[in-house]
Amino acid sequence: YQMPVCKRGIGHHRQSPIDIKTSTVISDPAKCSSIVIRFDHGDCVEVTVDEKGCWRVTARHHSTSMIRASHLPGTYRLLQFHAHWGGSEHTLDGKRFDAEIHFVYWNTHYFIPEEACTKSDGLAVLAILVEKGAANQEFDKLLDLIEESSISEKAVKIPVTFDPMRLVPRSGLSHYFTYLGGLTTPPFSECVVWTVMQTPITFSEEQLKALSTLTDENCRKPQKLHERKVYSTK
Ligand SMILES: [Zn+2]
Repeated sequence: YQMPVCKRGIGHHRQSPIDIKTSTVISDPAKCSSIVIRFDHGDCVEVTVDEKGCWRVTARHHSTSMIRASHLPGTYRLLQFHAHWGGSEHTLDGKRFDAEIHFVYWNTHYFIPEEACTKSDGLAVLAILVEKGAANQEFDKLLDLIEESSISEKAVKIPVTFDPMRLVPRSGLSHYFTYLGGLTTPPFSECVVWTVMQTPITFSEEQLKALSTLTDENCRKPQKLHERKVYSTK
């Protein structure tokens, strides 16, 4: 299953990522009151590594893994997840983290993902910031499969026991930033409601090094905020 090619091209006023300036973030407890993330066993089917060294885990076609939140206009279904490294894409007050995971979901209000990514609220991306620290055990399992796929140049199956929830911070789920933006890779479609978790998870130095053997860096630089507002619980 392929990430859909979004037909809508580059816009100019809601590009991603951004630097989140915490002093200008609007506290909106009603808008950011709740978030529910559910991963169902077996929904993550395979991992592939592209010619640039970027890996992607794809979800099965009718995955029931989803995200629902007070700031999201509907239920969004898991499509795929991937990461950026050699730094994070989103920065907090100019601070760059070591990596960033993106869980990509599509709005079930639309018929298919290809349609969703032509709409301003078509995709929801959950961004998890990563800093250097303790190793993430679940990511170790994924790294083995990524390396296998990188060598074989073929998709590698993910065991049903793999639990993506272990790539989400254990606490502070209610603390996040949200804003309207777009894809950080071509065609940069402005179709994303972003949710950036405030609490980072950790990868070990070895895990970050393993990623850098695939490619040094695959991040887009922060873009202009323009008229947009960033919201959070506090
Ligand atoms: Zn991404």
